[in-house]
Amino acid sequence: MRLWLFGLYGIVATTAVAGERAIKKGLSDKTGLVTELEQFKGLEKYSPLDFDRFGGHEIRSLDSNLYEELFKHWEENFHFDYRILKALKEDLEEIKAKKGTALNCGEGVLQELKPIQSLENDGLTLEQIVEKLEKDLLEFCDEDTVAIDVASTEPVLPYDDEVHGSLEGFEKAIKENKKDKISSSMIYAYVSLKNKIPFGNFTPGVGSSIPALKELAQKTGTPHAGNDGKTGETLVKTTLAPMFSYRNLKVLGWMGYNILGDLDGKVLSHEQNKESKIVSKDKVIGKILGYYPYTITEINYFPSLKDNKTAFNFIHYQGFLGAKMKLYFIWDAIDAIVAAPLVLDIARFLNFAKKKNQKGVIKELAFFFKSPMETEVYNTHEQFEMLVNWYNSLK
Ligand code: NAD
Repeated sequence: MRLWLFGLYGIVATTAVAGERAIKKGLSDKTGLVTELEQFKGLEKYSPLDFDRFGGHEIRSLDSNLYEELFKHWEENFHFDYRILKALKEDLEEIKAKKGTALNCGEGVLQELKPIQSLENDGLTLEQIVEKLEKDLLEFCDEDTVAIDVASTEPVLPYDDEVHGSLEGFEKAIKENKKDKISSSMIYAYVSLKNKIPFGNFTPGVGSSIPALKELAQKTGTPHAGNDGKTGETLVKTTLAPMFSYRNLKVLGWMGYNILGDLDGKVLSHEQNKESKIVSKDKVIGKILGYYPYTITEINYFPSLKDNKTAFNFIHYQGFLGAKMKLYFIWDAIDAIVAAPLVLDIARFLNFAKKKNQKGVIKELAFFFKSPMETEVYNTHEQFEMLVNWYNSLK
């Protein structure tokens, strides 16, 4: 298998690549990988945990390589044993990013990641950007290639039915160079799906979720899934919220307050870039409970925490005889460590889906996402059952 990552030098991408290589060299076990559970026995026949190549697009540090960029993240976070890092040096130095696009990525990206090295900054039109990205992908890919977007969170671009509502409208906008209507996550999804490369959107950005790109996936017979990896606080929320329903307890209010540092935290400190993340994290409670209690969802930048995200949750609920009670929890995790294995899992399941002739949105992968496409199942327990049943029906 091969894996193309949009945002190749980020901490999630570099940790995912390092993790796969460390497991291959026998330097780490497979803890954290859903695909290695007993329930998915046999998956290795179709989608082994064995990626022969990694590549991707970036908009910064293009003279660097994956090892150097991983090392910078490691110096900040010490998120795994130094001996692993040392043993992977040669392997990872060979992996180099190609120039991507930062179209409509918002102030957060433009300011925090400057100097931005992007195709539009070189004066390319939308059509030329698409051509260049496609060329990179086609030079890299084989039959078993999956692409996953792990680039920085981009702002919500207003929906425009003329452009986003149909493939014809979308391709017309590309031809007419309507740069204000198309974001980088859409372009990445477009070039992947057009070339029959399964696409996963690990970010809260739009990606392949617009009708135009869903139509393209159907047309080319390509599977895709997203949006926004469910790795931490939201995983706990969507696992815990069903408990209140099962016991007929009424949730009156749910407050979630997140603090994080690192590049991701810096980008999210810009209101424009933060919005899509807040929406993604906030709506899950109402979806699970079937009613919408009062909620507060906040994310703030806290530099010294680096990638160690901490989420404080306060839940006010009502029980028998109208009594009001409280539950508190704190989630404290290294963001990249909880996210990286899921990137490998999503890639393996999408490749499996392609081999089983599945096309369009694979809603059964909802288990991995905060804002799953084409399903109203947000309950983690139900999502897991859905995933296992789907796998059993196809294997
Ligand atoms: P990061 O800031 O470390 O990495 C993002 C990388 O993307 C950077 O190297 C940046 O240069 C690059 N980039 C930005 N815009 C780009 C573009 N348009 N094209 C190509 N590259 C681009 O962030 P991270 O912590 O690795 O998170 C990556 C993404 O995953 C974010 O969108 C985040 O919201 C999402 N996510 C992370 C978690 C988690 O870490 N637990 C959970 C869910 C979702």
